[in-house]
Amino acid sequence: MPNLYPALERQEVVIHGPDHVHSVGELTDATLDLVAEAWQRRARDVGGICFALLNEGHEAGASLPHSHSQLAWLPAPAPAAAGERGLPDVLPVLERGGVAAGCPVASRVPYEVLIAPARPEPDGLRSELLGPALRLLAEIVRRLQRARGEALVPLNAWLHDGPHWHLELFPRTTRLAGLELGAGVYVNPVAPEEAAETLRD
Ligand SMILES: [Zn+2]
Repeated sequence: MPNLYPALERQEVVIHGPDHVHSVGELTDATLDLVAEAWQRRARDVGGICFALLNEGHEAGASLPHSHSQLAWLPAPAPAAAGERGLPDVLPVLERGGVAAGCPVASRVPYEVLIAPARPEPDGLRSELLGPALRLLAEIVRRLQRARGEALVPLNAWLHDGPHWHLELFPRTTRLAGLELGAGVYVNPVAPEEAAETLRD
């Protein structure tokens, strides 16, 4: 449905099913496949540059508790995606259904995770692996919630489409402050090696 308070010309909300759950980690695989299909059908039907994202928890900017994602149509490719040069090196966590999850060796925040096709490919909004990628995201979120003993860990996640499409999971358990936002220097108190090991177990 249309976002009630769009900041851009077109913004839509994808409601993750009728069950009143608060986290993507609580969704069934069948629902996650429908979320992938909804993203892909809207991107195809509307055209343009569609940016898919997910905010969970108040600290991560979510204003509604019912699990949902957003589609935002951008006037130009997302600068953060356009500035990437290939995929970062990751410490492997889990591979399933043709997609792999790992913690970037230069993780910006604790438990940052990158999810990408095991064989890099373009166009996530057309890929049959988007459903499996969202399933893997949900599994990682469940493991993160268990590791921290919290039913809802605030997080952002998004799809970077392009030559090597991927999902990025960016948990919001630390505060981004002047050093992070101003200098682009991230102080991360959990080493990615430790994060990857925790998420593997
Ligand atoms: Zn990216």
